[in-house]
Amino acid sequence: MRKIIINKFIILFFKKLFFMTENTTHKSGFVNIIGNPNVGKSTLMNRLVGERLSIITAKAQTTRHRIKGIVNGEDYQIVYSDLPGILTPAYKMQEQMMHFVNESLKDADLILYVIECGETNYNQQIIEKLQSLTIPILLVINKTDKANDETILATKSHWQNLLPKADTIEISALTGLHVNLLLEKIITFLPESPPFFPKDELTDRPLRFFISEIIREKILLLYKKEIPYSVEVVIESFKEEEDLVRIGVMLYCERDSQKGIIIGNKGFAIKQLGIESRKAIEEYLEKHVFLDISVKVLKDWRNQDILMKQFGYVQN
Ligand code: GDP
Ligand code: MG
Repeated sequence: MRKIIINKFIILFFKKLFFMTENTTHKSGFVNIIGNPNVGKSTLMNRLVGERLSIITAKAQTTRHRIKGIVNGEDYQIVYSDLPGILTPAYKMQEQMMHFVNESLKDADLILYVIECGETNYNQQIIEKLQSLTIPILLVINKTDKANDETILATKSHWQNLLPKADTIEISALTGLHVNLLLEKIITFLPESPPFFPKDELTDRPLRFFISEIIREKILLLYKKEIPYSVEVVIESFKEEEDLVRIGVMLYCERDSQKGIIIGNKGFAIKQLGIESRKAIEEYLEKHVFLDISVKVLKDWRNQDILMKQFGYVQN
């Protein structure tokens, strides 16, 4: 009996030892992607994750939320956060967007500060915050595919002056140039830690969120001027049938005149939006989709605290 107990004890000891060594060699960390609007943050996150999690358009302020994308290696897990671009807020929704950016400066293990070649504009407050941080910063000089060496060098030295402690790398998120090198660099910055999320998880967002983002991307592409910025997309119902998914969508805008533009002459515009969105969602879900889109006016929704919460711009 004593022998059995001793044997059990020895097995347990070795199991524990093995588990500990397994744990200590695993690296995990939060890598937060910030920078000015339109510099290629979302393109970079999608490239690093290998999936189209974040919507991308040529328009500024395409990204409104903090979107996590998880990359799992055998001995590492990287939790990327794609964030809205740095801006001076004009209304509550933009204040919340900047709140996401500010929060991301606190919980990162590494900050990727993305810069477009030739860009010199910066937000003084954010730069001062970054200068005072002990979190490592990697200056990612993007869009090198469309810049000459002189511009790349000038951009690098401008930003190195602002953030002298930061490391730099030149990439193209669009073509993928040096993105593997970037990944290798990122891994060196990760602290030793067990994974934060299950190793088969890709994101922390539910399916409905990505469907609303697909529709918002089509709105950004189809409508002009302030319309895309005044619309919130809400998935009101989602019913899976055997060979069809029925999705009910409400678009909230701020004024009657905007509602008129969204619907368009004889409903032409909203019909177009429906067709384009349905196609993209069918591709995403790999299923037939029936999409029902309606429009409602919700006066000044971008400035209302209660709606900010309801629409997910305020977390908790
Ligand atoms: P974000 O606002 O910083 O998230 O930027 P997006 O990822 O939405 O990209 C903004 C625009 O820049 C889009 O039209 C992208 O196709 C384009 N873009 C992103 N990365 C690159 C790049 O490396 N090279 C070039 N030429 N364009 C890029
Ligand atoms: Mg973006």
